[in-house]
Amino acid sequence: MSAVPPGSTIGILGGGQLGRMLAVAAAQLGYRCHIFAPEAHSVAAEVSADWTRAQYGDRDALHRFAASVDVVTYEFENIDVLPIEELADHVRVHPNVTALAIAQDRLREKDYIRDHGGRPAPYREVSNRAQLDAAIADIGLPAILKTCRFGYDGKGQVRIYTPDDAAEAWAAVKGAPCVLEGFIQFEREFSVLAVRGQDGKMAFWDTPQNRHDDGILARSFVPAHPMIITQQDEARAIAGRVMADLDYVGVAAFEFFATDNGPVFNEMAPRVHNSGHWTIEGALTSQFENHIRAICGLPLGDTGLAADKVIMDNLIGDQALAWHELLADPANHLHLYGKGEARPGRKMGHLTRLEFD
Ligand code: AMP
Repeated sequence: MSAVPPGSTIGILGGGQLGRMLAVAAAQLGYRCHIFAPEAHSVAAEVSADWTRAQYGDRDALHRFAASVDVVTYEFENIDVLPIEELADHVRVHPNVTALAIAQDRLREKDYIRDHGGRPAPYREVSNRAQLDAAIADIGLPAILKTCRFGYDGKGQVRIYTPDDAAEAWAAVKGAPCVLEGFIQFEREFSVLAVRGQDGKMAFWDTPQNRHDDGILARSFVPAHPMIITQQDEARAIAGRVMADLDYVGVAAFEFFATDNGPVFNEMAPRVHNSGHWTIEGALTSQFENHIRAICGLPLGDTGLAADKVIMDNLIGDQALAWHELLADPANHLHLYGKGEARPGRKMGHLTRLEFD
């Protein structure tokens, strides 16, 4: 497949901070970006050449978008696959629609990972109340009920501690198709950050250890705890098999729990990922740049570390209002996403620090 040369236009579905950082990386390589997003204020569109403001299911708008770009990627996986499949008839879409379809459905994703030698937490499909009770009896408690689709940052998840919680949990998911997942007693969390080029070459960044607060990523750092390093090869092997089998092109993140019995798969993101933001300053090539290189068919850049230690903290809600204080420390690399209101739980920016021994 021929390369999409610099000067071409990259279409990005989704208008948030991931799209914004992709567009900045694309600009550095001489590309233009065209954002397709429904929201009234898109922080990705603000740094891009073009913007189509339309719903993801708007076929006419998608056709016009397809005609105006040279390659399409996405920064957001909660999009119906049907219109994207149609889009793929007219323009290259990376990562491909199969990867998108699998990663946006927790049940398919867990089946797929299991079929590729991975070990998810024990899980059962739940589409009605009777199935929930049967799943609880099978898996035991505590457990987590997660909607198959549209979950992110801990949304679409309800914890069930006692059988009495089941009715409330089922009401909370409003009848959406779900999976019930056993609760994993994990020591630490990490993600495998990988990129695969059009020629099938793969590269991994150093494995970040992640800490979540209230289901939202709070901190990612490298190097990870030695316990994670000993589990990294197994986790990378799973990611590698999955990406090769999907003929995946671009960056993907695979989240794992590090347990005493080895890595337990949590979820996969078919896109650049929050646990890879540290790579902007902390790696020789960032996840954003390598994603652009991969989808455009360019050689991949070096994923090696640029420091001995790298720490990335998300700035959630009003934490970002301390920008002046944060900038007063010259060692801080501050990223603000240009979002308006600093609502609680909203990812407003992030802060990266490099350390040298
Ligand atoms: P998720 O949106 O599925 O990535 O979940 C967000 C966070 O909730 C995870 O990173 C964990 O900290 C926690 N969590 C999710 N699933 C489980 C599980 N099966 N067992 C224990 N903790 C979990």
